[in-house]
Amino acid sequence: MALSALIVEDEEALVILLRYNLQKDGFDVYDARDGDEALLLAQERKPDLILLDWMLPQISGIELCRRFRASTETRNTPIILLTARGEEADRIRGLDTGADDYITKPFSMSELMARIHAVMRRIRPALAEDVLELGDIAIDRVTHRVHRAGGEIHLGPTEFRLLDYLMQHPGRVFSRSQLLDAVWGSEVYVEERTVDVHVGRLRKALKKVDAPDPIRTVRAAGYSMDENFSSSCAQ
Ligand code: CA
Repeated sequence: MALSALIVEDEEALVILLRYNLQKDGFDVYDARDGDEALLLAQERKPDLILLDWMLPQISGIELCRRFRASTETRNTPIILLTARGEEADRIRGLDTGADDYITKPFSMSELMARIHAVMRRIRPALAEDVLELGDIAIDRVTHRVHRAGGEIHLGPTEFRLLDYLMQHPGRVFSRSQLLDAVWGSEVYVEERTVDVHVGRLRKALKKVDAPDPIRTVRAAGYSMDENFSSSCAQ
């Protein structure tokens, strides 16, 4: 699944340049020219990254940053502020509002991309890697192969995405509807029972190598990748 980025910027030429570079880097890109449009797009698209201009018409970048942080959809989304101001006090104020980093205009695209990669690695380390490991399970996102305790495990594409998502957030409990949104996408209508079916298949596949079940069913809440399973199977 490609990562998505939301660009909030009123300078057309810069939007075109940013869009081009982010797409080249593999991002799905959405852009907004002002705060209202940005808030709507963020709710709809739940971007993985937001590039936010400081000086915007109507709602300022700073105010927008606060609103992104106050909204459940974008509470944890990495935000990089694009600012033309260089004053230290403004920079600090920018970071106080919950932005993860800032870059001062004019900037080079290679510098911005380096910042983006650094922020993504810091905020969501699991996303930056081709191979994700937890306990005795390793998944390769390039070849789509899964290994557990030295043996290969064959998964369907949905089970693969489900495992990938759960392994990114060990210990966190997800409701069926949260898993539907994350793994199937919020535009697709699927019954919640479908999640149970795929979790069942995933469990069965993971147990093939005669190892303990790493997925926890949380009564009335949903599912979680067991945090302790990784330590219990560490050698
Ligand atoms: Ca501007």
